[in-house]
Amino acid sequence: MERVCLDCGARLLGRSDKKFCSDQCRNNYNNRLNRDQNNYVRNVHAQLRRNRKVLADLFEAGHHRIHRDALLAHGYNFTFFTHLVETRDGLRWLYCFEYGFRDSGAGYLELMKSSAYLEGCVPEAEPGLM
Ligand SMILES: [Zn+2]
Repeated sequence: MERVCLDCGARLLGRSDKKFCSDQCRNNYNNRLNRDQNNYVRNVHAQLRRNRKVLADLFEAGHHRIHRDALLAHGYNFTFFTHLVETRDGLRWLYCFEYGFRDSGAGYLELMKSSAYLEGCVPEAEPGLM
């Protein structure tokens, strides 16, 4: 079976585990792979930051209950969140960093701010910072 360079497609001769015809092609290939992965991570981060900003702006403005459609209108994307917290009473909160929400019925969401999950992972906060 003919083997070809993963980067340029040139026919490969020699060792059967060879994947590239040259160091240049190996570098091209790996750089492209890294760039694609970095783009993916960058895009997801950007969406998470946008989502966090939407929740933060609303929450800090005093909106602790809001309709899903209002979040969508603000550009919120429900596909992306950072973590899910299920409380002992069975409520499921979806978080985008420290801002979260749960379904409170009829299309409404209850908003919440909490960095509780960080406890134990960060040095004790200075009084007044929490
Ligand atoms: Zn090549």
